[in-house]
Amino acid sequence: MRQLDADSLVSVAAPLFNEAEGVETYVKEARESLRALALPCPHEFVLVDDGSTDGTGAKLDALADAHPGEIRVVHLARNFGHASAVAAALDHARGDVVILMDADLQDDPAAFGLFLAKWREGFDVVYARRVLRPEGGLLRGLFWSFYRLLSWLASTEIPIDAGNFALMDRRVVNDLVALRERNRYLPGLRAWVGYRQTGIAIARRERYDKNTRVGLPGLWRLAMNAVFSFSYAPLFFFRLTGLLSIAFCALVILWAFHDKLISNHAVPAWASEVVTVSFLGGLNLLGIGLLGEYIARIYEEVKQRPVYIIDRVTEPEEPGRE
Ligand code: UDP
Ligand code: MG
Repeated sequence: MRQLDADSLVSVAAPLFNEAEGVETYVKEARESLRALALPCPHEFVLVDDGSTDGTGAKLDALADAHPGEIRVVHLARNFGHASAVAAALDHARGDVVILMDADLQDDPAAFGLFLAKWREGFDVVYARRVLRPEGGLLRGLFWSFYRLLSWLASTEIPIDAGNFALMDRRVVNDLVALRERNRYLPGLRAWVGYRQTGIAIARRERYDKNTRVGLPGLWRLAMNAVFSFSYAPLFFFRLTGLLSIAFCALVILWAFHDKLISNHAVPAWASEVVTVSFLGGLNLLGIGLLGEYIARIYEEVKQRPVYIIDRVTEPEEPGRE
């Protein structure tokens, strides 16, 4: 069994966008959960201010001042979005184990002990499986279908109902930090890395202010990232439909010859022509659209823009020591 010792460090890392109202409770709760575990080593918080406009940045600096040596604050130059802020948090975490969790109090720090117990058993990734979702019926249904569809489509095995909330061993974090792709779906990347992974069922709590920062457009982008980064299935389905429609056209041609040459009762086929042409036209546009999606993603990668830009970092005076 592996253990933490006095030289180890535990990081809690989080992305924050306009969370000024919740951040104090968040840090307090997480700190209390860590203290309750009576770890032999210090801990650090790595809090990324993702271009907040509600004073979250100043609040984080004040928190870091009030708890010297405990909190590193990374201020991004603007709002880069949840996935980029998470990348910044992982890049700046120094712990031997890193716990990644959202800062909206949805992820329950009571899970820390369970995470660490599994890590001690030798698991390099322990992720939370979301068993209870506070969202309403429709959204919950969408999440449910999304996870199942993705695990069916994806070429990497991605665990069902797993979000970002997880504990990761240093070696997993190092591998994730080395992956610099722009369209980041973390549960997918984390699964792709490998090693020993396990999930534990953790109920997801209500957001403290009921006002999602990611929102439906953000979730849609995340879902698109997940599908297009981990699957070529859209191209496969398109190819299959193409083949089927070619086969169908071949049948229609044979049928036309039969009518013309053998049964001799060809009818002017205005309607079927219009239907076929518009169907094939639609199919072509869909295919071009799908190809375009992959090409846009390739374009984003070749531009090699960084995943985020840092405005400044507030370092704890004595890293990891309280
Ligand atoms: N977040 C962020 N940048 C953004 C949007 C969200 O850093 O552009 C943070 C947010 O502060 C929270 C976490 O990402 O800590 C998850 O956001 P949210 O709770 O809104 O997402 P949801 O749980 O609704 O998917
Ligand atoms: Mg949330």
